[in-house]
Amino acid sequence: MKPQTRNTYVSKTVAALKPSGIRRFFDLASGMEGVISLGVGEPDFVTSWSVREASILSLEQGYTSYTPNAGLLELRQEIAAYLRRKFHVDYRPETEILVTVGASQAIDLALRAILDPGDEVIVVEPSFVAYEPLVVLAGGTPVAVQTTGADGFQLHVAQLEQALTARTKAIIICSPNNPTGTVLRPAELEALARLAKEHDLLVIADEIYAELTYDDGYMSMAAVSGMRERTILISGFSKGFAMTGWRLGFAAAPEDILQAMLKIHQYAIMCAPTMAQYGALEALRSGERDVAEMRSSYRRRRNYFVSSLNEIGLPCHMPGGAFYAFPSIRHTGMTSEQFAERLLIEEKVAVVPGSVFGQSGEGHIRCSYASSLEQLQEAVKRIKRFLARL
Ligand code: PMP
Repeated sequence: MKPQTRNTYVSKTVAALKPSGIRRFFDLASGMEGVISLGVGEPDFVTSWSVREASILSLEQGYTSYTPNAGLLELRQEIAAYLRRKFHVDYRPETEILVTVGASQAIDLALRAILDPGDEVIVVEPSFVAYEPLVVLAGGTPVAVQTTGADGFQLHVAQLEQALTARTKAIIICSPNNPTGTVLRPAELEALARLAKEHDLLVIADEIYAELTYDDGYMSMAAVSGMRERTILISGFSKGFAMTGWRLGFAAAPEDILQAMLKIHQYAIMCAPTMAQYGALEALRSGERDVAEMRSSYRRRRNYFVSSLNEIGLPCHMPGGAFYAFPSIRHTGMTSEQFAERLLIEEKVAVVPGSVFGQSGEGHIRCSYASSLEQLQEAVKRIKRFLARL
């Protein structure tokens, strides 16, 4: 019997995924001249020379083959030392650390390693755009819980509790947060820890922006008492070390979970790029001073940019970390998409509509301040002119 012709080879799950709202918006900006982009989520610094040099040297020395699946042992040892030194968490480099292709792959692996079909994962919105699609691709069901701009997007555990069902397996948190810049305080982490223990939940803690916090008191989820055993810590080199293009991240987790992630990784990826791993090794050994300089530069720009937004009439909480400001545009009466589109067309400033980050992102725009101070000053001038015309 002749098989029926298919309309498409694409899977129903993938066909149903929405394309990233950020991408769609950037297609609009590309091709326009004189645009100031506050849209992209990446550092405006070039990776430190010492890191680039170490990677070049590894190539000169001919280190061009695969590394162990989990990554160079030396690198895992440096990661373990770094996590201990900076965040007071202890992981065994041999069995509890995995070097990945960006934090992105670490998140994907974490979800695929823990989810059975229909398991629910709570995603705190506004959230990084990849979490919900990755939960779906791993066969799970994302359940969104909202935070609000009224209190600077703090986490209310009672709200999380209401969203729990018998199928809830994990909660994804991101601190410092993309897109809000909010840093979860130790008290919130402790409340979350109590909830996780009470309901036997796992926390996937995306701490990719942990190097970029501007006030004291940052705490890793895994450092909260009793949480190391129920946390998958995700981090990497893209943001703090200005290494987005190197595609290097890592996960740290209890052995059984980490080994499950490694099992997928060894079939799907084999290992993270070798030359990038040599660069990352150097970043951890000698990068602290450069990271501190970049951090102070972001802090200066945050202070200028966020106070300017408030002055020109876009209310914005002071974000404790990352490099995003997430002001409210609600009083303009426009949706965030309308606001972002008009701002781009009329004043050539690209920002991201808050709606792409989930329901509670609506009424806000995400502006990255990882741009030169001159560009930020010009952007403020243009946004002010735009608001005056409304
Ligand atoms: N998590 C968050 C919150 C991010 O903002 C990003 C990058 N935009 C990532 C993960 C992915 O980072 P990487 O480049 O390491 O894959």
